[in-house]
Amino acid sequence: MPELPEIEHYRRQLGQWILDRPIGRVQLNNAGSTDVSPEEFSEALTGRSILFLERRGTFLILHLDNGHRLLIALAKDGALHCGEAGAKPPFAAQAELELGDRTLWIGGRGSVLRLLTVRGLDDVLKALGGDPFSRQVTPESFAKLFKKRRGALRSTLTGQKTVSGIGPRYADEIAFAAGLLPSVKVQDLNDESVARLYEAMQRILLEASDAGGCLQTPLYEGDTLTGGYLNQCRVYEREGQPCTPEGAKVEKMDVSGKKAYYCPQCQYEQTPVFS
Ligand SMILES: [Zn+2]
Repeated sequence: MPELPEIEHYRRQLGQWILDRPIGRVQLNNAGSTDVSPEEFSEALTGRSILFLERRGTFLILHLDNGHRLLIALAKDGALHCGEAGAKPPFAAQAELELGDRTLWIGGRGSVLRLLTVRGLDDVLKALGGDPFSRQVTPESFAKLFKKRRGALRSTLTGQKTVSGIGPRYADEIAFAAGLLPSVKVQDLNDESVARLYEAMQRILLEASDAGGCLQTPLYEGDTLTGGYLNQCRVYEREGQPCTPEGAKVEKMDVSGKKAYYCPQCQYEQTPVFS
């Protein structure tokens, strides 16, 4: 499932191929992926070019040269692939955009593509919590927001209201890095635990973005970067395996009806203080 690091990796990598070249053929293979007809969609994009790529949470936002935006929200099984025009993508593409000698394929049944004005985009984004990489999400603002929440750490991290872009994988990895159980109630966390959680969130999301995230579909031919963080995950979907070479075995628990992975030896009710 694409989360913040996977989309941040795409944002960093795609610019070299898709910016500043006119959009040629546009094909929508799944009419349900947008809210206009395939003809309208194609007409709105053909001849435009992409000036800039932005990411908010897990949304990838393409800034078009007419001031409009194309928002891409990938589904759970969604991925992107960029290759030579006429090549075949490694998945069933929901949409294809031709950009000069390259094509951008968008995969994942249920992935959403929306053409928006700046105001329309603002309306979509205002429901989201701050992006962890934005200047607005500081240790202080994060602590303040967290104090207002109630419920399990895992659900608060994945809820998209406190911060956006974190799903099950990185919520579990962040909780592990902070030394906190995914089931702890956020209202019970002391200041030190919240500070440690902020630090762990920034570090894990940045390391995962730098390492290419965890998606296994290559972004382009010969791609060796995408998915590079997969073997650096310590707990997520690693039940029965040690958290670190000498560590205890990862276990699974139920948090508000969702599976969460954790290490029973490294994670606590409050962040441990080493003296
Ligand atoms: Zn451990």
